[in-house]
Amino acid sequence: MQKVLKKKELNNFIKELMSNYEIIAPVKNGKFEIIKDPSNMELGKITIVPAKEFFLPEGETLIEFKGKKVIKTHPENKKRIIFGMRKCDLNAVKIMDSIIKDENYLSRRKNTILMGIFCEHPDEYCFCNSMELEDYYDLLFYPEDDKYYISVGSEKGKKLVAKLPEAKKEIIRIIKNFKRVPDKSIEKHYRNKIWESDANRCLSCAACTINCPTCTCFEIYDELSPDLKNGTRKRGAASCQLKSFSTVAGGKAFRNSRLARFKQFVYHKIVYYKKRNGRYMCVGCGRCLRACPPKIDWTDTINILTGMKNHDAKRNRVSAKKV
Ligand code: SF4
Ligand code: SF4
Repeated sequence: MQKVLKKKELNNFIKELMSNYEIIAPVKNGKFEIIKDPSNMELGKITIVPAKEFFLPEGETLIEFKGKKVIKTHPENKKRIIFGMRKCDLNAVKIMDSIIKDENYLSRRKNTILMGIFCEHPDEYCFCNSMELEDYYDLLFYPEDDKYYISVGSEKGKKLVAKLPEAKKEIIRIIKNFKRVPDKSIEKHYRNKIWESDANRCLSCAACTINCPTCTCFEIYDELSPDLKNGTRKRGAASCQLKSFSTVAGGKAFRNSRLARFKQFVYHKIVYYKKRNGRYMCVGCGRCLRACPPKIDWTDTINILTGMKNHDAKRNRVSAKKV
């Protein structure tokens, strides 16, 4: 059963929800933000930055300590709706839900309703249809002509659309013909020299992991008062693309080379996680490709590896050097 909402009624529908919920939605600057005015939403393009900061805020304080007293901090308990997530981002939340079990995440997650939107215009970087994604939402809006057909995925979602009329027909849309279709059978190619040409260009800037909706590695650090008596313990994003990520006491870095770090990113997303959990850790949103300053394209590389493209036929690859 689907509900139906006229497109011209969307802003009013969102405004009504604002009386009970904080609304987070994509806006023009390429991010998800808390909105006060629904006309500021930008639903036509995938955001540059994913919505993970609303579950794992950067620099979150976990505990405060005053002398010997330790105070656990708790996240604000606001009820909120994230609107405008596409199938890739909804599946990224599913992956986060299976990985992260800490109290702060669970509390934010419990208070968040996912109101997704069908992605009508995947761009040249998108490849979600290759990543075996599932339905994961409280509500999903399918745009069709002058209406949205709304699929209900949970009791929470059902309550939000209770007043809307039922649709007379059901609309389920599927986008086909993506320009990018990576082959995932790369396990036996780990030692192939081709990875070196990508790693040679990598800047170790971590833009790929920071913008990836499923990368959730973090570090814990303390900020102390000058007299060392008071302080806060915080959590911030970490990245497998930085040498410091695998550096242990004494200075030994287990992934010392850019080559090792770059391959870790790709193999974790496509091979290791899939082996352990039965699904890819990549949702095909393409953000790592869009954000990469030297435009390294690992999906192209894996297709060359597996024979879907002719190596060096179309691209001017940097020759393999030790990195
Ligand atoms: S690896 Fe890239 S394409 Fe896959 S989920 Fe992360 S950012 Fe998106
Ligand atoms: S964004 Fe590109 S250059 Fe930066 S660490 Fe990732 S692969 Fe390397």
